Amino acid sequence: MNHLIEVAPVARHEASRTLSVVVPVFNEQEALPAFHRRLAAALAAVQGEWEVVYVDDGSTDATQRVLRTLQAGDPAVGVARFSRNFGKEAAMTAGLRLARGAAVVLIDADLQHPPEAIESMLQAWRQGADVVNMRRRSRRDETWFKRVSAGLFYRMINRVSEVPIPADVGDFRLLSRRAVDALNRLDERTRFMKGLFAWIGYHEVTLDYDVQERVAGTTKWRYGKLWTFALEGITSFSVAPLKLASYAGFTCALGAFLYALSFLIQTLLVGEAVRGFPTLIVTILLLGGLQLMATGILGEYLGRLFIETKRRPLYLLDDYRPASLSMLQLSDEGLA
Ligand code: UDP
Ligand code: MG
Repeated sequence: MNHLIEVAPVARHEASRTLSVVVPVFNEQEALPAFHRRLAAALAAVQGEWEVVYVDDGSTDATQRVLRTLQAGDPAVGVARFSRNFGKEAAMTAGLRLARGAAVVLIDADLQHPPEAIESMLQAWRQGADVVNMRRRSRRDETWFKRVSAGLFYRMINRVSEVPIPADVGDFRLLSRRAVDALNRLDERTRFMKGLFAWIGYHEVTLDYDVQERVAGTTKWRYGKLWTFALEGITSFSVAPLKLASYAGFTCALGAFLYALSFLIQTLLVGEAVRGFPTLIVTILLLGGLQLMATGILGEYLGRLFIETKRRPLYLLDDYRPASLSMLQLSDEGLA
């Protein structure tokens, strides 16, 4: 029975707080059944109603079939599918737009983010948090190289970004309805979600969790992709590199001027001699390099500007089958 209709106003307000869990999935056929089982078990303990929105980011394996099976067995499951792989950030964006809950949790499908933590996230939300970030307690499962480069990345981006971007906070996160609505209003094409979450500026809370091993399958990130991601983060949250180019140029020009001056004085005092060939080469190479670098930085921004001006959609939905039971009907008995 739908207990929402009968309950007293106060309790009703509480009960109408429903949760959406958004899961971006890309080629996760092995991980999905186990993931859904654990998620459903974790959510059974949670008060209120929920839906899961799986966003299939153009998987090429049996993921779509697995999702359909999950949906057939659980009315709280919604399945969206992209026309092709648009990337995790696009998948999360789509999920946030499709989610109807009063609170929305973003979680990975590979069980690296423990669904059991959702309960404490909801608690923080009930206490007034708009954004609940989950911080990895350690990154020891990752390679030495990834750890060091991630550390460097956060140091660098926080030095240049206008908004502080919390380190070691992945995409495991809860957002309140108004935070989701705010995010949905940002429709820039190059989406650096970590930055966007911080940008909205609502009340943030950070909880710690232990990152788990991937249950099955392999990571979908390659170092090349991570590099692009880092670059995206920096260029969409700061124009410092542009300034860097002009400062470097200025310093070089000043150096060259002083050098020329000293050269002039030297020539006047001691006369001319054919010397300084190494200095010449070094200067040419240095200046050439700096110029290329400055052009490259300009190019990075220009490229993003180009992409933004085309105003293409972030993703294309091939298909969306929302959770069939309305969340309000999904009461305690809904999720055995
Ligand atoms: N993912 C996605 N689109 C992609 C790559 C990954 O939707 O292009 C999903 C993936 O299925 C998983 C989550 O994003 O649910 C995190 O991916 P992964 O575990 O490969 O990343 P890592 O944990 O290594 O950062
Ligand atoms: Mg993972």
